[in-house]
Amino acid sequence: MTSKTNGSRVIPYNMLAECVSTTYELVQRIVPEPEMNVLRTGLKYLEPTLIDCIQKADEGLPIIGHHFAFPAEYLYAFDCVPICIEATSYLLAALLPDGSEKYYDLITHWGHPYHTCSSQKGVMGMVLDDLFQFDVITTPTAPCDNTYASYPFFEYEGIPLVLTDMPFLKEEKSYEYFAEQIEMGLDEIGKIIGQEPNYEKLKKCLQIENETLKIELELYELRKAVPCPVESMMSPMSAAAQVFMAGRQEKLDFYKEIYEVVKRNYKRKETPLEEERIRSVWPYMVVFFDLALCEWVDRELGMSILLDIFSYNFYNEIDTSSKDKMLYGMAKKAMDFPMIKQSIEFYEDFLSYFVEMTRDYKADCAIFTSHLGCKQFGSIPQILREALRDELGIPMLIVDIDVGDKRFASIKTVKDKIRMFTNTLL
Ligand code: SF4
Repeated sequence: MTSKTNGSRVIPYNMLAECVSTTYELVQRIVPEPEMNVLRTGLKYLEPTLIDCIQKADEGLPIIGHHFAFPAEYLYAFDCVPICIEATSYLLAALLPDGSEKYYDLITHWGHPYHTCSSQKGVMGMVLDDLFQFDVITTPTAPCDNTYASYPFFEYEGIPLVLTDMPFLKEEKSYEYFAEQIEMGLDEIGKIIGQEPNYEKLKKCLQIENETLKIELELYELRKAVPCPVESMMSPMSAAAQVFMAGRQEKLDFYKEIYEVVKRNYKRKETPLEEERIRSVWPYMVVFFDLALCEWVDRELGMSILLDIFSYNFYNEIDTSSKDKMLYGMAKKAMDFPMIKQSIEFYEDFLSYFVEMTRDYKADCAIFTSHLGCKQFGSIPQILREALRDELGIPMLIVDIDVGDKRFASIKTVKDKIRMFTNTLL
């Protein structure tokens, strides 16, 4: 283990903590309450989470990098600092003026194909720049070719890589198989960092996640109300909470606080928008390199973002009554995790549940960000567009983009497209 201290084993976390703290201070000072409540509340809980990670890295705890498809709370079976490769690239993309672009360029110049997923290219470039001192990195063999093709880079750079084999079929035997894979993966990580997985410690984190899930599910229901009582910023903030605060009290507190505000809005039939004129669903991601877009659609267009791929969950609470049941529940959750579920199953399922959800949420339109990296989703937009038009009579805009790199399609281009599209709706 390295002897560096003062956050220098996780330099991008120092950068993130500084950006989060400055943004939080700015919002507190210049934005009157209750405006931007979701951003304010998210940053409030994100800041201490990042600081805690930096302090633990300074204390010498092992740093475990993970794909977001390996839920971070599972790593709390260890005394460690979990760092999500994809979320770190994208939160920096959101908070720095030029985002993670410098690191995308570093890894591209190193020889990695430019058209792979920027969510991974960011941290890959940071590793080349010696900004992270990972002790081990883990990923399941999902959800996409980018993952299979990109993660071996870390091993090439001398970081031990632990793989868990995620099956495609959603059957009992698959969940049992993946539960074994998770157990083996945790054992392997434990050997590398010199710790035994502590299932009692893990159980407490899973129980926090169970509590949080109840609130998340209630929020999904409340978002169906007309007008929607939730700000569009809830989509990226819930994705950030999902990864950075997984299994932690901060996540539960974030949801509790948001829920109180949303419930009050709902009871009063109020919306945080001045007036809700359009209700939109985003079958894929929001734009991570400029999260202010979520605030812009609320304020400028009166358009609610009711859901995106990270803001609806299909997994259940995990039974924590025994180690075997825990592992089984963990396997099911990981295989039904947002983006993982949709990316590894056949497209008919995605089409039918998305059409149903769009109906349920009473949306007027859909906006599909067709992300450069996501080749496995490249054929979906046109078929989904036809399904939404034929089944519900609603239009879908397709925006070709790299959601983490503004140089592919700038925020002006994205806004122009959305504005023109909404003009056809009103
Ligand atoms: S599924 Fe798409 S966004 Fe997610 S890691 Fe793969 S390429 Fe990136």
